[in-house]
Amino acid sequence: MTDQRNAEDSSGRVDGASARRNQRPRYGMLSNTAFMMAQAWRGRKSALAICLGTALSAATISILNLFVAPTVLTTIEEHASLTSLFAVIGLFVAGLMLANAVSAYCDTNKLFSYVEVRTSLLRLINEKDARTSYPNTLDAAFNEAESKATDSCSNNQAPTEAIWTTYSTLLADVIAFAAYLMVLSGLNGWLIALVVATTIVSYVVGLRLNGWGYRHRDEEERYVNRLYYLYRTATSRDYAKDIRVFGLRRWLDDLWNGTMRLYRGFLARREGMYLWANVVDVALTLMRNGVAYAYLLWIALSQGMSASRFLLYFTAVTGFTTWVAGILEQCSTLHRQSLDLSTLREFLAWPEPFAFDGGEPLPCDTAKTYEIRFEHVSFRYRPDGPEVLHDINLTIHPGEKVAIVGLNGAGKTTLVKLASGFLDPTEGRVLLNGFDIRRYDRRDYYALFSAVFQEYSVLDVTVAQNVAQRIDGVDIERVRWCLDKAGLTQDVAALPKGLDTPLGRAVYEDGVELSGGQTQRLMLARALYKGAPILLLDEPTAALDPIAEDDIYRKYAAMTDGRTSLFISHRLASTRFCDRILLMKDGRIVEEGTHESLLASGGGYAKLFDVQRKYYRSGGDSGQTDMDHGTAAMEKEGAGDDVSRG
Ligand code: ADP
Repeated sequence: MTDQRNAEDSSGRVDGASARRNQRPRYGMLSNTAFMMAQAWRGRKSALAICLGTALSAATISILNLFVAPTVLTTIEEHASLTSLFAVIGLFVAGLMLANAVSAYCDTNKLFSYVEVRTSLLRLINEKDARTSYPNTLDAAFNEAESKATDSCSNNQAPTEAIWTTYSTLLADVIAFAAYLMVLSGLNGWLIALVVATTIVSYVVGLRLNGWGYRHRDEEERYVNRLYYLYRTATSRDYAKDIRVFGLRRWLDDLWNGTMRLYRGFLARREGMYLWANVVDVALTLMRNGVAYAYLLWIALSQGMSASRFLLYFTAVTGFTTWVAGILEQCSTLHRQSLDLSTLREFLAWPEPFAFDGGEPLPCDTAKTYEIRFEHVSFRYRPDGPEVLHDINLTIHPGEKVAIVGLNGAGKTTLVKLASGFLDPTEGRVLLNGFDIRRYDRRDYYALFSAVFQEYSVLDVTVAQNVAQRIDGVDIERVRWCLDKAGLTQDVAALPKGLDTPLGRAVYEDGVELSGGQTQRLMLARALYKGAPILLLDEPTAALDPIAEDDIYRKYAAMTDGRTSLFISHRLASTRFCDRILLMKDGRIVEEGTHESLLASGGGYAKLFDVQRKYYRSGGDSGQTDMDHGTAAMEKEGAGDDVSRG
């Protein structure tokens, strides 16, 4: 259930971006290797066999290549028969062919296996993202980790796929290193020390100079982000009108060219560094091979070393460097990839402040009578942020229609999010029929709600699928009924494919885009289709003109009949159909009652209503909404101050 890491803040509102950024990785290299092996074992076992096959075949090819020429030469030096010579050559050729065949097989098939393991991780990320507790989606650190985790699975070069190549190359390097070391053990220990030392120096210098790019990645990221932003702005449909009307093209061109100039300068500096790394490497290789050559020549001349031995040692000395450098290189790559894997695993193990599968199933209430009670509820979005709701006590009775009104930022949406279980209180409790909602499986709890939110989410699927919120098993008759109730029947009939018309252009070329008002009605139909016992309406008419708005309020009134509903609105007249109206100010419920009783009491609600009514009489046809006028006027007339005293 609730992870201990977040025990100090059970609502999960922690914005731990900066805190977590400086933390050490939670999972080490060995643990990550075990994780990848287990992932492959569960998903695609062939990934393990292919990784091993690639390593063994590469090591075998290197070892056979080391021995082939000296062995053939030895056979000739020993004046062996032609048959023996052919037999030796034949054995090496057969061995090399076999190893190359295994290598080619692994190479051809690795893509499928490695990709499958990578995509299985991507699936886990997507599942986590789609099912995580709502407060996590507000946490910058969670979003940052999600973005990094996705990056680490985004393409064939991404760490979760490339790591298999690192494993196989590292294993091949270690095997070849051991074989070469055995050959060289017959030589002077100082020569081996020189080879190892120059390789390490060359590697460290290279790492330092090549690391310049890594150390300056923030600078590069800045240029790339800026260029990407400019590209997106210049090509996006969203800005097309503004660019033309305000003549922004030249400005964008200048910005692009200026950033490009800086980026080119950066790349030139970075390439300069890489050049120096190559110069150092070449110098050290020259020195190492020169000394080895001289030493082996000296032994050959002074101690009569055979040509085949000379060849074997010389190949071993020059090749040995490759394995030492390879091991260092692969270890450093593995370290980097392991950091990315750690981030991915931290994301997958991100604490869930809400109970899901571990929670109690919601008791089945056949009468569908649900009472929601706020008991001394206070709330902050961040532990160090301001308190947004203060000590709210409120009972929403079964079947009651409650309207919440108040100025922007009063806390209306937050209150609804707490009632619907998207957020948990910082202090106090939200109770369903007398029990804290935190004990239940949160998905069961969400099943109680139908909702129309301010930000609507139309999916790029057909009209019918949008209403039913499913692909299969759509009850078409029910869809029609809901569209009819929402007043959309005629609009849908006018669409090219009626109910089967796809919406949105992101997926379908012939997708249709609905107007703001049509979308609001579609959202209403969607809420109707779900038919849940509690209805949430958060400013559901913001995009409507006054006539359409009036029509839709009537529909809401009919729709909410017999159901518990919570309704946020700026338009006070729209709340008349509600049983009770709450006026919120600065995170508190400052007035409550029916429309009539609140008007009669002459408090903040009455003032606000008066302002809106005057506006409607005088300027309602200007096209501006009462929200703009009413709110501004209310602020000007100080109605809000009265409200606080009310
Ligand atoms: P209303 O619905 O009445 O306009 P809200 O409930 O949206 O008010 O907001 C109440 C307060 O909480 C405001 O001060 C707002 O800035 C703040 N707030 C809303 N959402 C967040 C969030 N995700 N993170 C931090 N503060 C928020």
